[in-house]
Amino acid sequence: MTQISDSASWQSIGLGWQPSGQAVLSGALLELVDRLDRSFVAMAEAWRAREFRFPTFVSAAELHRLDYFRSFPHLVTFPVCLDPDEANLERFTGEPVAGGEVALTATQPIREVLTPAACYHIYIHEQGRAFERAQHYTTRNTCFRRERYYAPLRRQWGFTMREIVCVGTLGEVQRFLAACRGQVEALLAATGVPVAWTAATDPFFQPSRSAQYLAQRVNPTKTEAVFGGDLAIASVNLHQDHFGHTFEISRGGAPSFSGCVAFGIERWLHAIVATHGFGPVHWPRLAPAVDQGASP
Ligand code: AMP
Ligand code: ZN
Repeated sequence: MTQISDSASWQSIGLGWQPSGQAVLSGALLELVDRLDRSFVAMAEAWRAREFRFPTFVSAAELHRLDYFRSFPHLVTFPVCLDPDEANLERFTGEPVAGGEVALTATQPIREVLTPAACYHIYIHEQGRAFERAQHYTTRNTCFRRERYYAPLRRQWGFTMREIVCVGTLGEVQRFLAACRGQVEALLAATGVPVAWTAATDPFFQPSRSAQYLAQRVNPTKTEAVFGGDLAIASVNLHQDHFGHTFEISRGGAPSFSGCVAFGIERWLHAIVATHGFGPVHWPRLAPAVDQGASP
């Protein structure tokens, strides 16, 4: 395994790091991002998934319908604007930044959140729809999560998530998730990155008081591909009918079930470099994944 704390070597392959917990990518790493994402999109294409590019912000009122802010208050990042009142703006311009911190005056009401997971947009966008067959989607977004600490590629405030999503009956979603896991295993075999598949739970606030956390403990619905003992590079998630119910999406007349497979692209960069070293010639070429039983 490569010595991964060698910052000059990381720079040489195109990694920059900002103290805010965000990476700057260029050169060989940026090319690897594109090749990786093409592999994920090839998996999605095996399902004839419809691709969406959603905005950075997601409606707070919609996320509230999922009780998101009680479940994950510690993760949220809000976009904030100053109240446009001229006197307020003038007060702000007096000393806008002191000691590196913005000195906010009055702010406008906050109605949006920076996307915390790419797939929420899909259920919000599809709300109220009635489907007679399973639906497949893929989307990629920069996602934002406040974390206790940040580390380049491994744990970032802003990071890139690619997701493949199925909305359908329980059976359709279960078959989708099982086949996707096969697709991910084939891609991992092609990249030579070793992982352990591990049952996991979402990082709920005050988990012992969260009914959703307890339900996940009793009936595990999240499995992660874990690299190096502690780094989840992908997750396979069954949401039951939580989103279908909340957003009134139906499949065959009943609330739809849904499931997603999520990839943290920066973590894949980390795993590939930690496995194969700093020489891009040794990195996997990442041919498009075999379909492993995908049948939309
Ligand atoms: P989750 O929705 O928590 O299953 O996240 C999906 C994937 O996003 C995880 O498996 C990770 O690969 C990635 N991820 C989650 N949080 C972070 C973070 N703070 N920094 C980088 N990648 C992350
Ligand atoms: Zn998801």
